[in-house]
Amino acid sequence: MRQKLVAGNWKMNGSMQANQQLLENLKQGVTHIQAEIAVCPPFPYLLQVKELLKNTAIRYGAQNVSHESDGAFTGEVSAAMLVDLACTYVLVGHSERRTLYAETDEGVAEKFVVAQRAGLIPILCVGESLTERESGDTEKVVERQLNAVLTVAGVGAFSKSVIAYEPVWAIGTGKTASAEQAQAVHTFIRQHLAKQPQGTAVAQTVQILYGGSVKANNATELFAMPDIDGGLIGGASLKADDFLAICQAA
Ligand code: PEP
Repeated sequence: MRQKLVAGNWKMNGSMQANQQLLENLKQGVTHIQAEIAVCPPFPYLLQVKELLKNTAIRYGAQNVSHESDGAFTGEVSAAMLVDLACTYVLVGHSERRTLYAETDEGVAEKFVVAQRAGLIPILCVGESLTERESGDTEKVVERQLNAVLTVAGVGAFSKSVIAYEPVWAIGTGKTASAEQAQAVHTFIRQHLAKQPQGTAVAQTVQILYGGSVKANNATELFAMPDIDGGLIGGASLKADDFLAICQAA
């Protein structure tokens, strides 16, 4: 039985005051929730979040990480720095990073490895664009994105990671993949991992989240699918009531 996980990706949103309010409300609301909960604020707020979440079961992580370890890389944040701030998770390969900042499959794989080596749990985001789905290429794209990590880290690396299937056409658009569409891709991901030498066990244990316009009114149906282990939530993670309702559904 895999533990459910609901992670909030705040993207480039928040302020000291808004974060405090949001986290105070979350702390009050999570007591009866079974799922594991995490939030991923922007870098400048990680220290604030660390303090506010002290002695709670809510975990936190970053939205990105450098593949470099230290040195002259202006504007970058290393995996060691995230560990220093006691982050549990880091998102790698979010579609906004892939499309707006030209992150490649290989670059994402490098970040995955560096994060994991430092002791973070990478949440690897994969997913197809609308054109790719309409051309029937969903599996090909997801397979390519997974293979980049498999090539450098092997299937065993997925035992200490999370995968988030996020169809690009569903992110921030209000269009959600149907529970069946999401389930089909999650099954495909498990099958692909199981096909690797020594991949059978990992394929069954790795948590695979769904992300893309998850709201309180569609979360129950999505999370009821056998291969969906929770969600990566963008917009709806910014309001405590909405996020708590989604966590409750997991
Ligand atoms: C995301 O940013 O990972 C995401 C799923 O966003 P939204 O829930 O807003 O579609």
